[in-house]
Amino acid sequence: MPELPEVETIVRDIRPALVGRQLGRVSLSHDDILRGVSRRRLLRDVSGSTIQSVFRRAKHAVLDLGERRLVVQPGMTGSLIVYDRPLGADEARYAVLRAPLDDGRELVYRDVRRIGKLLLLDGRGWQRYTAAIGPEPLAPDFTADRLGEALRSSRQAVKKVIMDQRHLAGVGNIYANEALFAAGIDPSKPAQRLTVDDHRRLHRELRRILQAAIASSGTTVRDYRTGTGQPGNFQLELLVYGREGEPCRRCGTRLTGTHAIDARISIFCHRCQS
Ligand SMILES: [Zn+2]
Repeated sequence: MPELPEVETIVRDIRPALVGRQLGRVSLSHDDILRGVSRRRLLRDVSGSTIQSVFRRAKHAVLDLGERRLVVQPGMTGSLIVYDRPLGADEARYAVLRAPLDDGRELVYRDVRRIGKLLLLDGRGWQRYTAAIGPEPLAPDFTADRLGEALRSSRQAVKKVIMDQRHLAGVGNIYANEALFAAGIDPSKPAQRLTVDDHRRLHRELRRILQAAIASSGTTVRDYRTGTGQPGNFQLELLVYGREGEPCRRCGTRLTGTHAIDARISIFCHRCQS
């Protein structure tokens, strides 16, 4: 699933083409990606509205339509693309939501496997949605102390805590693995056993890696594409994710892979991370 840097990349790519544009008559090929909104209401409320702003919250892209906000949670195979030409047959086949813009272009949510979700929230719905998600790791007011607060109160594995969207927004498996390696912390270590120094290092490395990944337009392991349809480049810079059994870049020890934390693959160096 796209994480913070991938969704941030998509949002930055599509924003200039969308802000201030009015949407024409929206169409939807399947209802199964809708959450908490009926097809009828979505088509009625989104069609004709003007896009005030486009931004990211956690791993989701948000279109502010004035009274309502359209939240797109791209699944593994989901992408948001603005086309300035007619769609090809293959592009049209996997286009789930199509929204013509008043300048002749078209905003498309494409999702081959339709694991993504669309929400349409009013003011109160938005408050509830955003209040349930933890702080943004790249926000200026997100400090090492703030990260420490979330970690100090949990006996669970540190990796599980930083991937829990209620504690921290936008971090998934790829960047959790990378940040813990960079910070020299064993992913299975109980969060409450981390020191203040660990909090500082993890905070610093999380932010550094998320920013570097945004600068490289995100990580494409399989399906992820940017808002212009291109693959990202950060997969070339991953130090542990996808490298199980290969030598640690820092000390040469074979990297260990385990599914012990939340059934997700954790890859780490047992020598460099403690
Ligand atoms: Zn190592």
